[in-house]
Amino acid sequence: MTTIYAHVPSPEHRFPDHPERPERLSALRLEEIPGIERLATVPARLEQVARVHTPHLIEQLEAACLQGPGLIDYAPTYVTPTSFTDALRAAGAALGVTRAVLQGEARNGFSIARPPGHHAEPRRAMGFCLFNNAAIAAREALAYGVERIAVIDFDVHHGNGTQAAFLNDPRCAYLSTHQEGIYPGTGWLEDADSPDQRGRIVNLPLPAHTGNEGFRQILQRLIAPFLRAFRPGLLLISAGYDAHWRDPLASLGLSTAGFTLLSQGLVELAEECCGGKIVFLLEGGYQAENVANGIRAGFAALTGTPAPEIQDACPYREPDIESRLLRALRWHGFETGRS
Ligand SMILES: [Zn+2]
Repeated sequence: MTTIYAHVPSPEHRFPDHPERPERLSALRLEEIPGIERLATVPARLEQVARVHTPHLIEQLEAACLQGPGLIDYAPTYVTPTSFTDALRAAGAALGVTRAVLQGEARNGFSIARPPGHHAEPRRAMGFCLFNNAAIAAREALAYGVERIAVIDFDVHHGNGTQAAFLNDPRCAYLSTHQEGIYPGTGWLEDADSPDQRGRIVNLPLPAHTGNEGFRQILQRLIAPFLRAFRPGLLLISAGYDAHWRDPLASLGLSTAGFTLLSQGLVELAEECCGGKIVFLLEGGYQAENVANGIRAGFAALTGTPAPEIQDACPYREPDIESRLLRALRWHGFETGRS
């Protein structure tokens, strides 16, 4: 079985001097990546979006887009006359790839679409995000009959929207790593502290320059026990390549080798936990080469082919994250030993 991808670059969804621009995807060269097939996707239907977002948000957003171009918040999040359709197409790409994987038409997949989704809350579009593609795909999978869904979000920002959508839904689990102290200011380690939420809504805010070695520890000691305990039937990855050290918007310390390590680890965990059913969804990443290299690393893991060898090691020394990792493990009731 093959690895599929959807590609929705939304060239008209753009705003002057805004970092979330079509050129983010300009270095991709998807046709050169071995072992992948493009899936034609259709826009999400409103009832699929309404599994996550309120009718009021959907109406308000459509009206704002039709009146666009303009800004709808301080992030700033912009809309243009095509943005409502572009957002439906981006959500539709996530839905199409997810459904193909669930139906066994593909082994796994990657939705490369704009606008991104993980900041979009049920009642509010924000943070360059209009509809929450990951949460919409998760609800579709539940409607399809999957009992439990997990999202791992390694974008440099906290996915407040996905957390909000999943907070009171015991069928959905969410784990986010993100740089502490940056936009949107949510995702504290102690978030979601009811017994129903501990172990299911997991946040690990990280100091600047946390990089490949830190993420190796996080993968083995936090992500692996989280997935083994929750036992999802499908794994969705909010893949944000703004966690690369060279990203202009933030300061974590991953390199392409780190994205390779993380992608391979996540694919292996999906093999172990849910028969290999894993779908990557593009979130942020604002430097085109980093995004292209990160996506190639993702596809290498998905297809089991050699990862790209890119010389882009982080020049900064990694901070010690042991104490916060231990705190997170204790908070959620996971074993604290090194593996
Ligand atoms: Zn981000």
